[in-house]
Amino acid sequence: MSYQLNTLTNAETTPLDGLDVWTVAFLNNRGRLLDGRDVLNKEYTYLSNGSDAVMKRISNTITAHDGFIQSEALAADIGQRAFSASQLERYAECPMRFYFGYVLGIWSKNEVTYDRKRWLEPVERGNLLHRIFYEYLKQITSDGSLQANHDRNLLQYIAEEQLANYKRLIPAPSQHILLKESGEIRQDVEWFYNEELIKTTRPCYFEQELTIDGEPMQLKLTDGSTITIKGFIDRIDQIEPHSYRIIDYKTGNPNKYRENGHFAGGTQLQHALYALAAEQWLRDTGRDKDARVTESAYYFPTARGVGREVVRLQDKRELLTGVVRNLLISMEQGVYIPTEDAKRCRYCDYATVCVNHSAFMADKKKHPDNAMNMKEFLEVEAID
Ligand code: SF4
Repeated sequence: MSYQLNTLTNAETTPLDGLDVWTVAFLNNRGRLLDGRDVLNKEYTYLSNGSDAVMKRISNTITAHDGFIQSEALAADIGQRAFSASQLERYAECPMRFYFGYVLGIWSKNEVTYDRKRWLEPVERGNLLHRIFYEYLKQITSDGSLQANHDRNLLQYIAEEQLANYKRLIPAPSQHILLKESGEIRQDVEWFYNEELIKTTRPCYFEQELTIDGEPMQLKLTDGSTITIKGFIDRIDQIEPHSYRIIDYKTGNPNKYRENGHFAGGTQLQHALYALAAEQWLRDTGRDKDARVTESAYYFPTARGVGREVVRLQDKRELLTGVVRNLLISMEQGVYIPTEDAKRCRYCDYATVCVNHSAFMADKKKHPDNAMNMKEFLEVEAID
């Protein structure tokens, strides 16, 4: 039958229909079935591009299909941007995720979903606690101008006020869950209070935005270069005259903050970047011309974090400059590759796009052909 079709076509007869055309195209001149991919790719450009992308993804070379995007416009755009510490950290975690979100502007829809087992999402709970700590410290220090005058009743009053606000804004699925989660938040507040009582530093600035005269700060790095930064510092405490500590509240799990890690491959930069920024902000705004920010703390003032503090001494400023410069160079050179750590993909909004892309990255990163293109990024990854 096939042979007949082929013979008929060879005789330049008109095909019966589309199926007839394809049947002939998939046969060789002896009537044997061919691998149809080449034929389809020739006919359908999109399919061909798709196959090409898949082959390049599984090859050892880094290409545009792995997020290696060489574009002068993109490089120029990166040079103009103001960065927050968390954006730089997100880039170090997974450049491709950074690209989807911060370059292409593709974000998952912020949909409210009904969860009958939970009242507050972790981020909402974190925001609620931040708000309670902020209001309390502001009031007991007269906005940072006085020593902290602790008052448990006031803290409890503020906590109840904020809980009531959240109850109004976010309906709880049941009274039982509302009581349970409110009780946990009251426990966290109690932890915070007890930790504050034994603190020896003086809280001075809260939710401090990194701007000068309303403009994002031009942060000077140790090599004389500058980076435009934006963001807020949860809290700045004075340790002694002209010596300060910045504090970042954490309400999640403390495990990822190892005591002996410092930059964690560029994924923990906030403590160093904002310490430098706070120091410059204190000096440039005239609040303390001799200010030095000597340490930063990730502070877990909750029952889950058992009041733990992970302190990072700020004595690695040259290294910070190297990490920040390398991340910016890497972005400008178009390195937006996926992470090789598939654990990061588990809860990522872009997982349906990437599928198993991260599985190829470990080999690609080791391949000598890619060493030049990824030099700066790999250097950052190697810094603990
Ligand atoms: S799924 Fe994985 S590789 Fe893809 S963007 Fe998310 S974290 Fe990165």
